[in-house]
Amino acid sequence: MKQELQIVGFDFSGLGNEMFYSYNPANQVKNEYSFFKATSDEVNRAVEKAAAAFKVYRKISGVEKAVFLEAIAEELINAGDELISVCSSETGLPPARIEGERMRTVNQLRMFANLLKEGSWVDARIDTAISDRTPLPKPDLRFMQIALGPVVVFGASNFPLAFSVAGGDTASAFAAGCPVIVKAHSAHPATSAISGKAIQTAARKTHMPDGIFSLLYGDGSKIGMQLVKHPLVKAVGFTGSFNAGKALFDAAVSRPEPIPVYAEMGSTNPVFILPDAMKERGREIAAAYAGSVVLGVGQFCTNPGMLLYQSIDDQFKQSLKTAFEQTTGGVMLAPNILNAYNDGLKHHLAIEGVEPLAVSKLTTGNDQSTAVPVLFAADSKVLVDNPALSEEIFGPTSIAISVTSKIEMLKIAENLTGHLTATVHGTDEELPEYIELIDILEQKAGRVVINGFPTGVEVCSSMVHGGPFPSTTDSKTTSVGTAAIYRFTRPVCYQNLNDSMLPPELKNKNTLNIFRLINGDRTKNDIF
Ligand code: NAP
Repeated sequence: MKQELQIVGFDFSGLGNEMFYSYNPANQVKNEYSFFKATSDEVNRAVEKAAAAFKVYRKISGVEKAVFLEAIAEELINAGDELISVCSSETGLPPARIEGERMRTVNQLRMFANLLKEGSWVDARIDTAISDRTPLPKPDLRFMQIALGPVVVFGASNFPLAFSVAGGDTASAFAAGCPVIVKAHSAHPATSAISGKAIQTAARKTHMPDGIFSLLYGDGSKIGMQLVKHPLVKAVGFTGSFNAGKALFDAAVSRPEPIPVYAEMGSTNPVFILPDAMKERGREIAAAYAGSVVLGVGQFCTNPGMLLYQSIDDQFKQSLKTAFEQTTGGVMLAPNILNAYNDGLKHHLAIEGVEPLAVSKLTTGNDQSTAVPVLFAADSKVLVDNPALSEEIFGPTSIAISVTSKIEMLKIAENLTGHLTATVHGTDEELPEYIELIDILEQKAGRVVINGFPTGVEVCSSMVHGGPFPSTTDSKTTSVGTAAIYRFTRPVCYQNLNDSMLPPELKNKNTLNIFRLINGDRTKNDIF
């Protein structure tokens, strides 16, 4: 048995005496890694070190931070096959998927490194003084984004690399200039340990301050809460269930000094099929829909959990049934997640008017570990009477809701809560006739997808992976893409500060060669 310790800055620590183990959900056995749960002292030590590191790290240049991020990417690659096999054994995800996710994680880190090297992300704005303005002189005002302070990240179970220890939240917080303390997800602690050591090695190699990164194991409700309530913590990134995300949010806003919590908590990602698209390519849409629902055993936050279509004939419903019966399920990430999935199915089945339209015929495996895809069907009245049907069941399931008219479709859209995505399938001719639907959906979702499927989140500058509550606790941000950096910054304005004392981004001479808004013009010019 390998005993893993807390990572507290550049130290390892094992003060706790409560143990837990890495677990293989496919074979339902313990893996060879054991862990101590962090003690309260270890939590405090990690936060205090992070606060000390912040004083140094926030002043390091963007280029030096970029070198650190690139070094983490390199160390993740150096972690080799061990990272893949350990992660696969802890999550039930196939090695090819984990390998792909590692490259996504590496590319995210490199994307933020490039952002830092280019430098214009700080959004520098300068309004120069007009000393002879009447009736009052105008002061010299200079604005830019600066880092918030130590950030706590809760790794996601469903992205053990790309949204966990070295994932998007951590990369964007480091890029912003914030030290990070990760609360490891209990469903993949050994993967977290390998990723955490990669970050620690990268931090040492690139001469980052001790405390720039810590990794703690233990219960979310205990050490997670202690971290969020610690006065030196300044922001939180989270992906997981509504209950945990909301509990952390409530704790953060109840602190004497409230702090932002960027919690991504799940969503049903509704898909609307317009009548002409259904007539033209109903069978194709049904097959692609079924594929999207069961992708990764339905364990994507953008999994489409609800489909709405205008029932013209039974052909489309039949195509959905046929397509869904040909899907396969698989091992879920953790036993509690499989239990929650099966409970969700039971909940739907208990509602009068909900029909189990199709059950996967191809799923084989152990009942104790394998999720079986199920497609439900109901008409819109059942949905109206049972709004809980529109809530997420995390896993390979979805509900197809038939409506009788465009008006009814618009009414359902109007009553949706917040989602990460909303999708519309329509022909080029009918989409403009449904502009009202798109207008409603942009109020309900972070990303509106046309003639595609929401699974598959491109990591780039224009991505929005976020959405109105309850899909997240802050609709103004994204957790994927370069804009994620702004979750961990705030603007500051210097009024009449001497040029020699200004940060390099705001000095008269633009030595960093970044874009700046100078007296209303976006330019790379110096100020004379
Ligand atoms: P979770 O239970 O919300 O756990 C996520 C993290 O929050 C873990 O580190 C957990 O710590 C911590 N936590 C749990 N309860 C807490 C509390 N009361 N206070 C503070 N921290 C707490 O999510 P999960 O285990 O990953 O999956 C469970 C369900 O979450 C799924 O069935 C699904 O419904 C949803 N989920 C949604 C998404 C999404 O993308 N939207 C992704 C994953 C999961 P522990 O280590 O102690 O558990």
